[in-house]
Amino acid sequence: MEEKDYNFSWEQLGDIEEGRPNLGNKTSVAVYRLMQYTMRAVLEKEYGDEQTRLMLVQAGRLAGREFCRNVLDTSLPLNKFIAQLHDSLLDLEIGVLKVEKSDVENLNFIVTVSEDLDCSGLPIKGVTVCDYDEGFIEGIFSVYTGKKFDVKEVDCWTTGERTCRFAIHQIS
Ligand SMILES: [Zn+2]
Repeated sequence: MEEKDYNFSWEQLGDIEEGRPNLGNKTSVAVYRLMQYTMRAVLEKEYGDEQTRLMLVQAGRLAGREFCRNVLDTSLPLNKFIAQLHDSLLDLEIGVLKVEKSDVENLNFIVTVSEDLDCSGLPIKGVTVCDYDEGFIEGIFSVYTGKKFDVKEVDCWTTGERTCRFAIHQIS
């Protein structure tokens, strides 16, 4: 995927410490989901399901790239980088990352994210919904390695699994 020039910078997230001296930087998962799924509903109505899916992947990719650049230490070797990613996803209460399979030579991985922020506990609907997360993971891996990746969510809470499972493949 080409990296487009979006009008986003990490500074747009603001100085949360200054702005919320009493409430701090936490909110509830329901509020996060309320924003995500109302936005999704509006986008689906305006642009259709597939286009919306692609836009969510794109937004996730942008987030993953910026997250990698601003939060993660990309100078670490792969195993330490993944351990760091695991720790920051846990610290930020995004989910519990586990690597199920890793082919380091070809940069192919299967990872799971349990208690995922986006979908854990949602009604089963037979299709995966963590499109944003697909992009997020792809963005992180592409910035870290400088290569291109395809990331596909193969299992999700909404397909009846108790975890989200992502297949990550280097494509160039
Ligand atoms: Zn999921």
